[in-house]
Amino acid sequence: MDTPLILLDVDGVLNPLQRSPGYQRYRATPNGITYRLLLNPRHGPLLTGLAEATGAELIWASYWTDTANDWIGPRVGLPILRSVPIPPRDPRYTYGGWKARHVAEWVGERPFVWLEDEPDVSDALAAGPELGPHLIVPVDPQEGLTDLHVEQARDWLEQLR
Ligand SMILES: [Mg+2]
Repeated sequence: MDTPLILLDVDGVLNPLQRSPGYQRYRATPNGITYRLLLNPRHGPLLTGLAEATGAELIWASYWTDTANDWIGPRVGLPILRSVPIPPRDPRYTYGGWKARHVAEWVGERPFVWLEDEPDVSDALAAGPELGPHLIVPVDPQEGLTDLHVEQARDWLEQLR
C-alpha cells in the first residue's frame, strides 16, 4: 500500500486563535506581509512521533504552502516537509472548498488523515473525485491541535495497517 499521508494545516491547527499555556508569540513575514502567530514547540515532537509510529509522511496542507518550512516548521520543531500545492484562492470558493479541491487532486488514491479546522472540507471532498481511505480530524481553531487529535489520527492510521 502507498505510504499514508498526514496532512497538516497551519492556521487554526498549529496556530490557534487563542493563547493557551505552552504557546509562544512570533511574527512571520512571508512575501513581506506580517502575520502574528501563536506556536507550540510541543507540536513538532508530537507529530513526528505520530509519523514515526505509523509509517506515515507529514505534509503541509496549508495556504502557507512551502513557506511553512521557513516560518512554522523550525519554530515548532518540524523538519522540512513536502507541501500540497495550493494556489491563491479563487473567490468563488470558500477557503475550505478551494483547499479541498487541490488536496483531492494532489493525494489521488493515497490514504490520508487530515488535521484541519475549516468545517466544510468534508463536504467539499465528498463532492469531488473518488479518493482512497481518508479521515478528517476536525480541529477547533480557537484551541488548535491537542493530544486528542493526534490520538485520533494514530488510531485510524494503525487500523489502516
Ligand atoms: Mg486553517
